[in-house]
Amino acid sequence: MKDVLIDWFYYTPKDVLEKFASLDNSISHGEYKERFVFIPGSRQDRVLLVAHADTVFNRMKPKIKFENGVFSSELKNCGIGADDRAGCAIVWALKDLGHSIFIADGEESGCVASNYASSIPEINDMLQDHQFMIEFDRRGSNDLVFYDVGTKEFKSWCQHQFDGYKTNTGSFTDISVLAKKICGVNISIGYYSQHTSRETLVYSQWLNTLEKSRKVLSQKNIPKFELKRYKDFQTINQYDLSVSIYELNTTYQCDCCNSLIDKYEIENNNNRCPLCYNEMECKHGN
Ligand SMILES: [Zn+2]
Ligand SMILES: [Zn+2]
Repeated sequence: MKDVLIDWFYYTPKDVLEKFASLDNSISHGEYKERFVFIPGSRQDRVLLVAHADTVFNRMKPKIKFENGVFSSELKNCGIGADDRAGCAIVWALKDLGHSIFIADGEESGCVASNYASSIPEINDMLQDHQFMIEFDRRGSNDLVFYDVGTKEFKSWCQHQFDGYKTNTGSFTDISVLAKKICGVNISIGYYSQHTSRETLVYSQWLNTLEKSRKVLSQKNIPKFELKRYKDFQTINQYDLSVSIYELNTTYQCDCCNSLIDKYEIENNNNRCPLCYNEMECKHGN
């Protein structure tokens, strides 16, 4: 398994997309950073498995070493690209469970392919037709990150299913764009110091998330978690808007002062924390 994983670090983004596009019934759209591959799952209770093919080291040739259970780079100017090749490798390992797959390019450039996919109505409809989305693209060993695409029910279901994992905060990634009518979660896959040449991947942590996910996603009758997003209500009248706010689970924790603040208050304050004025919606990161 370790040797299979190492191959993923040496692929180009195109190699990754073509590998997934070679699966039966795959649907590919877009060019360059807009390119994505979607493979519809066969299960009734299918989940969408998400990862991205690009890395911040796209144009470089990595050199990987494995020592004491940890993958790292032999080069001073190039990381290993475990963000998000380690995620692609997990999705590949789970490809025969009957769930759907979405592999995006351009995540590191502002989720370009996910935005493009969401803009195509037929594709967007297919993407929302799942129980929920799970993205394999979070640093660390045991985080579950919901951004603004998790409800209270979904969070507690995930915490229960992935015991030993805990809710953490994050800024923005593909599921923040893709999840519109269903919930989404981004889970730790064992990488650290992503986007730098010191990037590492702890093999045992990667394997732990793979095996936990395999167990969770192999169950029968996986429940559906629907989502109503604030931005879907923006065009309707003020009365409806005030009702919709209470239907959402949109409390954010400020990275700076740790206060819990409602999203509505943040948006009324130019996307800054009303208490310490920290900017709360950063457009990059996992
Ligand atoms: Zn990533
Ligand atoms: Zn990244």
